Amino acid sequence: MGRERCILAASDAQGNAEQSPVIVIGGGIAGLAAAWKLARAGKKIRLIEKDRRLGGVIRSLRKDGFLIEEGPNTVQNHSDELGEMRRALGLEDRLLFATGTEKKYLVRFGRVHPVPTGVLSSVTSPLLSLRGKVRLAVEPWVKPFPLAGVSAEEFIRRRIGREGYERLFEPVVAGIYAGDPREMEMRYAFPKLTALVENSGSLIRGAVERMRRARRDRALQKRQKRQAMIFSFPEGLEELPRAVEKFLGDRLLLGTRARKIEPIDHGFRLTLEKGDGMKEQVFGSDVVLAVPAHALSGIEMPPEVRKACEVLAGAPYAPVGIAALGYKDQGPLRRLEGFGVLVPAVERRSILGVLFSSSLFPERAPRGMRLLTIFYGGRRNPEMVLDEKEFPREAILRDLQEIFGIEEEPLFEHWIRYPKAIAQYLLGHGRILKAQERLEARCPGLLLAGSYLTGASVPATADSGFRAAEKILSR
Ligand SMILES: Cc1cc2nc3c(=O)[nH]c(=O)nc-3n(C[C@H](O)[C@H](O)[C@H](O)COP(=O)(O)OP(=O)(O)OC[C@H]3O[C@@H](n4cnc5c(N)ncnc54)[C@H](O)[C@@H]3O)c2cc1C
Repeated sequence: MGRERCILAASDAQGNAEQSPVIVIGGGIAGLAAAWKLARAGKKIRLIEKDRRLGGVIRSLRKDGFLIEEGPNTVQNHSDELGEMRRALGLEDRLLFATGTEKKYLVRFGRVHPVPTGVLSSVTSPLLSLRGKVRLAVEPWVKPFPLAGVSAEEFIRRRIGREGYERLFEPVVAGIYAGDPREMEMRYAFPKLTALVENSGSLIRGAVERMRRARRDRALQKRQKRQAMIFSFPEGLEELPRAVEKFLGDRLLLGTRARKIEPIDHGFRLTLEKGDGMKEQVFGSDVVLAVPAHALSGIEMPPEVRKACEVLAGAPYAPVGIAALGYKDQGPLRRLEGFGVLVPAVERRSILGVLFSSSLFPERAPRGMRLLTIFYGGRRNPEMVLDEKEFPREAILRDLQEIFGIEEEPLFEHWIRYPKAIAQYLLGHGRILKAQERLEARCPGLLLAGSYLTGASVPATADSGFRAAEKILSR
């Protein structure tokens, strides 16, 4: 297959694609970031979204006085450009930062223990045995090893030992990705930790050097602190897509699904389908394809990139179930202050983790009530999300009773599940990136963005959209 541009005969093209808008397909955070950046730079754009609302998995819901996040809850301030977008959209006055985030907990032998925050608390913490602590402490003397094709489990176990891996790292991976470190590729799933070892030869030494650098450089310290903060808005994260919706106005085509993309002279011809099944064609000078990987197979593409599309469409996601439970603020619930709890796989529980939602942000629960957000399933227990006809209420409430001593029934419940929730960076993820490169090279002007490429978090996904926009702006 040649590297030539995949174009239809010019005579096939109706309309002047060159003067057409840039078409962004998908109104999740990736598409919103791309559309906002292009529009702000003065580009004519159109955003096509199959649903009647924007935001993709970012969904906030006010119900019976509780504010529930059906998708992401804890979004770090990692993306400078996302911060700029927030400011430009006038959301700075609405911004909330989570409090008490340093108070994190892990479960060991069915009991909840705080994650140590200093040297002394690390030495005395019951989260690791003495042997586990000694093994962790010798990490700086473990020689670096080649990283290509190394799983996150192998990398961390070789560096900090089996106990440190099982008790500290594995639950964090469940908390971030709902993933299984045994099948994830370290350098793609955790590029920052990988870089620490590549630059300093050790995780501990790298972290200490990072702290020292920040102590010497006030601006760096401030930046690191700002980036670690978790933000939201009084009515939840969905305030962000709602603000983009207002900004884009009639540049939006909601309730419209992209069905076909055909490269033509100087651009693309797209076939769209409305909710009532009516089809229409539009022309675009460039296209940002910001749909989840699995949605790519529902869009007809040029034969030249079909193979690359198949690889991309197979990018894996973890299934996740969420239970938002409201309780009276009494008894053991009073102790659930701070960020939340993660449960290691070796504990053999149904729960992956619990966020103390009403402790993190104000007004997430009515007065005198508490809101807990429980995550279950993931690559650890996919059947809990995929096979169950009913939500696994009994198993979750049993865990809450046995781990936290919560005996009473919740007074409020909201359950939701996603068969494909969070993108995974499995061994061989390089194939996905190569397929992206191939597709973008064969169809100049067609750019991909989304959580399955270079980071699954909201800020990393937004950055993929900003990058796609940048490529178009610099073309
Ligand atoms: C339950 C859950 C919890 C999470 N928790 C966190 C968290 O706490 N912190 C964090 O940083 N990240 C979290 N994430 C990850 C993060 O939210 C996602 O990775 C990110 O929001 C995905 O954005 P996206 O734009 O790639 O995809 P989506 O949000 O899936 O958006 C894609 C959009 O494309 C549209 N679409 C699909 N096909 C078509 C088509 N043919 N034509 C037109 N439109 C189409 C869809 O309707 C959708 O709106 C979580 C994700 C989930 C699901």
